Amino acid sequence: MSYDPNNVFARILRGELPCKKVLEDTEILAFEDIQPQAPVHVLVIPKKSYATLNDFCEQASDGEIAALIRGAHRVAKARGVEQSGYRILVNTGPEGGQEVPHVHVHVFGGRRLGRMVPKPPESVSKTD
Ligand code: AMP
Repeated sequence: MSYDPNNVFARILRGELPCKKVLEDTEILAFEDIQPQAPVHVLVIPKKSYATLNDFCEQASDGEIAALIRGAHRVAKARGVEQSGYRILVNTGPEGGQEVPHVHVHVFGGRRLGRMVPKPPESVSKTD
């Protein structure tokens, strides 16, 4: 997956599109997901351009990587789910379900989140 400088998150970072900001520092921006899947659903992105988690892990500095994961924790704290529990998720590549080619961490919380991934169809019985 190559980096498209006109992807929606790049446009948010340039101020060309609006976002509902949760927090920001020199390394990261966190904002509300436009189609929330839980009462808390925030996206955390690095300000530099990395298409996927693969690129991020291979090219970003340790400081940038720490800032992103700490950003997810800061979001959980800011949104009041640090103690009740939350989930972070990074979709990567086509089979990982990544739609926007700028690496991002989802932070979900505010309700019981259930299974991590759906069961594959072949393991679902008629009683499920
Ligand atoms: P992913 O499938 O992991 O690439 O997730 C992309 C996420 O970006 C989805 O949850 C979308 O709802 C979200 N999204 C797309 N456009 C926007 C936007 N303009 N502002 C906030 N979130 C967005």
